[in-house]
Amino acid sequence: MRSDFKGYLEALIPRGLLTLPKIGMKSQVSNEGLCPMGIGWEGGRITDLHEIDLYVKPAPTKLLLPRLIEPHTHLDKAFTWSRFPNFDGTYQAAFISNMKELKVRNALEVRERVERSLAIALKNGLRAIRTHIDSIGPNQDQIWDVLKKIKLKWSPFIELQLVALAPLEYWNTDGGEDFARDLIDVKGLIGGVLVPPFKERSAKHLLKRMLQLANKYGCGVDLHIDESQVHPAVGLKQLLKVLKLVELEIPITCSHSSSMGLLPPKALRSLAKNIAKHDLNVVALPLTNAWLLGRNPRETPFKRPFAPVFQLQEAGVVVAIGGDNVQDAWFPGGNLDPISLMAFSLPLTQLAPWQRLGLAPFTTSAAKVLGLEWDGTFKIGSPADFVLLDANSWVEALKHPPARRIMIKGKWLDSGTIPYYLS
Ligand SMILES: [Zn+2]
Repeated sequence: MRSDFKGYLEALIPRGLLTLPKIGMKSQVSNEGLCPMGIGWEGGRITDLHEIDLYVKPAPTKLLLPRLIEPHTHLDKAFTWSRFPNFDGTYQAAFISNMKELKVRNALEVRERVERSLAIALKNGLRAIRTHIDSIGPNQDQIWDVLKKIKLKWSPFIELQLVALAPLEYWNTDGGEDFARDLIDVKGLIGGVLVPPFKERSAKHLLKRMLQLANKYGCGVDLHIDESQVHPAVGLKQLLKVLKLVELEIPITCSHSSSMGLLPPKALRSLAKNIAKHDLNVVALPLTNAWLLGRNPRETPFKRPFAPVFQLQEAGVVVAIGGDNVQDAWFPGGNLDPISLMAFSLPLTQLAPWQRLGLAPFTTSAAKVLGLEWDGTFKIGSPADFVLLDANSWVEALKHPPARRIMIKGKWLDSGTIPYYLS
C-alpha cells in the first residue's frame, strides 16, 4: 500500500496513550482524561503531535484511538450459530455442538467465515487478531492451506496470528511434532485446553511435552486454561509446577484463567505473583465467561468466574481483554468490534477506559500479549494507524458503537482504498 500521504487533524486522545513529556500542562485535559491534540502525519508515520490550547481553538469533537487488537477469537467457527446453535447456553452443550460442526467443516466454509470476519474487523478498526483454529478435525490440511493464504493476503491490513488448537495429547504424537514444525513458517502458536476434571499426573506429563515441543520450534503457546467454575485455578497451578521443570524461551498466554477469580484473596494474590514471576500473559474473556459459566438451571447466578484482572495487573501480569467467540455455539453475540467489547466489558469487569489500567487491556497490553512491534501509543514516528470515533467523550463512544473512520499507514480507509478482494 502506498504511504506517501500527509495530513493533519485535531482530536481528543486518551492521556494514557500519549508518551509526550509535558502533556496536560495546559490543564485542558477533560475529566475523562482526554487531551485535545493536533496530530500530523506523512509517509505513514506521525510527524507532529502537540497539545491544543482551548483558549485559542475550539475543542475537538472526535475521539482518536490507535487501531485496535483482538487478542483471542475463533474465526474458523464464526457465524455458525444458526446451523449449530446452543440454546442451553452451557459449556458442555457448546462443546457438543462445536464437535458436530467440526465433523463437517471444510476449507471453503472456513475461508468464507474468516474473510467475512476480517472484512468486518477491518472496518471496525482492528489491526491485529489472534485466532485459535480447531486443528484435529477432518480437512485440516486444506483448512490450514487456506488460512496461510488468507494470512498473507490480508497482511497489509490486519496481522493474523494463528493458534493451532488441539488436545494436549496430540502434541505428544509424531503428527503433533510435524504440525508444530509446520507452524514455524506462519509464525503460528501451539494451543490446547486445560480445564478440570483432569488427571494431574498425565496433565503434568502432557504439558511438559507440549512446552518442550513449543520451545524446540520457537512457537508461542496460548492455552485455554481454567475456563471453569469448579476447582479454582487448578490448571494454572499445574502449569506453574511444570514451569519449574523446564527452561523456556517462548511466550506463554493463559487465556480465560476464569476460575482463578474464585480463589480466596490471599491465595489469589500469591498465585498472581507466581504468574508474574514466570512472565505468563493472561487474556481475560468476560463475554463468553459471563454467558457460559456459573450456570445453574432456574437460577440467576451471582458468582461469576472471571479472571481477576485488577489483582493480576497489580502483581505485574500483562492482561489483555478479548471478545472470544463470534456468533457460534459458545456465544451467540460477538461482532469483532473493539469499541462494543469495551462497552460490554465496562459493567462485567468494572474496568473503565478513562483509567490507565482500564484502557491498557484493549490497547498496550493487548499489543504486548501478541508481541506486536507497535505498542499502540502515540508518539512522533509511530504508525499513522488510527480509529477516529464520532464521539466527543468516552460516554458518547460507549453508549452505542459509534460511527468511525479508519486510517491505515496515513491513508483513510474507504471504499476506494479497500482492494476489491477484501471488500
Ligand atoms: Zn477461546
